Amino acid sequence: FLYNQVQDLKGTIRVYCRVRPFLGQSNGQSSVDYIGENGTIMIVNPLKQGKDSRRVFTFNKVFRTNVTQEQIYVDTQPLIRSVLDGYNACIFAYGQTGSGKTYTMSGPDLTTEETWGVNYRALRDLFQISKARVDIIRYEVAVQMIEIYNEQRNRAVGATALNERSSRSHSVLTVHILGKELASGSILRGCLHLVDLAGSERVDKSEATGERLKEAQHINRSLSALGDVISALAQKSAHVPYRNSKLTQVLQDSLGGQAKTMMFVHINPELNALGETISTLKFAERVA
Ligand code: ADP
Ligand code: MG
Repeated sequence: FLYNQVQDLKGTIRVYCRVRPFLGQSNGQSSVDYIGENGTIMIVNPLKQGKDSRRVFTFNKVFRTNVTQEQIYVDTQPLIRSVLDGYNACIFAYGQTGSGKTYTMSGPDLTTEETWGVNYRALRDLFQISKARVDIIRYEVAVQMIEIYNEQRNRAVGATALNERSSRSHSVLTVHILGKELASGSILRGCLHLVDLAGSERVDKSEATGERLKEAQHINRSLSALGDVISALAQKSAHVPYRNSKLTQVLQDSLGGQAKTMMFVHINPELNALGETISTLKFAERVA
């Protein structure tokens, strides 16, 4: 067993920020003033003056817009290995709709491995590593996909329906592994959750009604419950409020204890997204 490599990851929560590039026609002003080498990002509000116009946030890493999918994945790789060693891990993508969550987790295009997102790379590595260990441990791997929509747990619906409401549901790809060590016969279990969260944007209460308002309230509740759980864990608080949402209940076994958590927070650099960008970074700062 390769425990040594994962010792330094034990119980830690890492928060990485990814800034989406400007897309196509949009070449307006950017809210990102500056990205430092040491995990800092400076956000600028040109409508304000003086020191109120700038704010710095600090994370484990901040990725520039030209980062490759490979570079995004590099620090996830040790978590994948640890799952095969019998640990649990959760990887989240957080951000407003259109900020690049699905790009990070799934990728824009599956035809070349270069553009694969975290999910595919994680599965590829799981199978590769388990194959390499075949003379020592036999693994069984089970993969399940669920979506959590309005706080209900659903087995994944058809791709079209899923796409249509993907920004309003959490999609959770879960990998369970069961390993049997051949020499001793001992069993180990590990679990990996790969979570593409619902869009974090706040819905204007004056505009949303009916279904849309209900969806927005469920999303708000579950994202803030997730924030509460992760920040309680980060502060090593005695009480961790897992029971406040379906999402945190589903993930409970893989959040806290010996489990490892990684969050990719996504921001859209366009100035018209400034409000959501600030609230995304504040959320991320709270859990970091
Ligand atoms: P979300 O899942 O957060 O709603 P998407 O991942 O669907 O956002 O991204 C929205 C759009 O931006 C898509 O067209 C996607 O291809 C593009 N995009 C997102 N991130 C990047 C990136 N890092 N590089 C290039 N295009 C990106
Ligand atoms: Mg998406």
